[in-house]
Amino acid sequence: MNSNNESLKRILKKYNLKAKKRFGQNFLHDKNIINQIVKSSSCDGRFIVEVGPGPGLLTNAILEKETKKVLAIETDKTFLPILEELKEKHPKKFEFILNDVLKVDLDKLISENYSVISNLPYNISVPFIISLLIKEQPVKWEKLTLTVQKEVADRMMAKVNTKQYGRLSVLTQWRCRIKKICEIKPSCFIPPPKVISTVISIEPKKNILTPSVENFQKIVSYAFGFRRKTLKKSLSKLEIDINKLADFCEIDLSLRAQNLSVDDYINLTIGYEKFLK
Ligand code: SAM
Repeated sequence: MNSNNESLKRILKKYNLKAKKRFGQNFLHDKNIINQIVKSSSCDGRFIVEVGPGPGLLTNAILEKETKKVLAIETDKTFLPILEELKEKHPKKFEFILNDVLKVDLDKLISENYSVISNLPYNISVPFIISLLIKEQPVKWEKLTLTVQKEVADRMMAKVNTKQYGRLSVLTQWRCRIKKICEIKPSCFIPPPKVISTVISIEPKKNILTPSVENFQKIVSYAFGFRRKTLKKSLSKLEIDINKLADFCEIDLSLRAQNLSVDDYINLTIGYEKFLK
């Protein structure tokens, strides 16, 4: 039996908790999946940030490992008694903050490198991930082990010239390696979500020379801002001569955003930065 279903129900009953839609609460009870998430995070010896510990089954599994520290960030104050109990049980290793993670600057808060493990609430998954992807190098995060909606994982891993390939794919694959760990069926959660989830692992590529985040984001956003239009049209807002830029980078402006590879976007931004000087 791989289910923690009964123990999760007992926790929810004990603390009189009900899953709230507005906080994207779907609680994971499948032991195998929880173990797989923790194992793939290689959390031993690391400073771990867990976003949204909720009833704490995943948190407990992380705390059983030889982690250096676990910092949980939870927005829903009704989980306070559970978090206080965890603090009592692991006074040296566990800390928590009650706040919206999107309002917390992890790099300012944590003075060392950290990794993130989270079964992310669906409503903040993309903005949270992007906030980490666009940090200037060298980034302080070492590894992200995230459970997201399958559709989001597919977009992050999408290949050039496909329908799912977009801004999120380019920003993810630009400076990171992304790997699918497993899929999770809705029945592994209480309440079951309407969609399949995917666990992904993301690590920054080491020592790569890249243009600035600001300029890269600008080019990618302009290009995908008018996805159906040619690059000639979508990049026309740039303050430089885009015909000269295209010649210099050997990019065909009659293509569309989804036809350019991640390397094409890097070249285009490096060229753009040269023309700005
Ligand atoms: N970790 C638990 C699990 O795996 O069963 C709960 C996961 S549930 C999908 C998402 C959790 O994130 C909930 O506990 C929810 O309250 C919390 N959450 C939602 N929005 C948040 C935010 N903006 N900042 C921090 N936590 C948030």
